[in-house]
Amino acid sequence: MTCFTTYQLSIEIRRPVRVAIGRFGNFDFPAGRYVYTGSARRNLEARIARHLRRQKSLRWHIDWLLAAPGVSITAVQRFDEEECVLNQASAGVIVVPGFGASDCRAGCGSHLKFLG
Ligand SMILES: [Zn+2]
Repeated sequence: MTCFTTYQLSIEIRRPVRVAIGRFGNFDFPAGRYVYTGSARRNLEARIARHLRRQKSLRWHIDWLLAAPGVSITAVQRFDEEECVLNQASAGVIVVPGFGASDCRAGCGSHLKFLG
């Protein structure tokens, strides 16, 4: 049995949106497609289910973004590669430096990438 520990959320933002992300600050997100890379060492499916749930306490940067109007997850993919390796191999540009990267020690810059 393959043990997936990493996931990517494909996210669509249908219109430009300003999102208040807890203490991180207010950020403007252009409309378009994004990919968010995360990991859960245990219980990946519970983590993914949490991302897909609308009602929840807002804890991670991604929670605030997903709660914003016009923002939705369009696809979920699972991987067994290390989170930062996968993130750095993924296309896209950084629009919010530091997003989802509070615990990143690999210099990703952000775990959310804008695909255009
Ligand atoms: Zn990283």
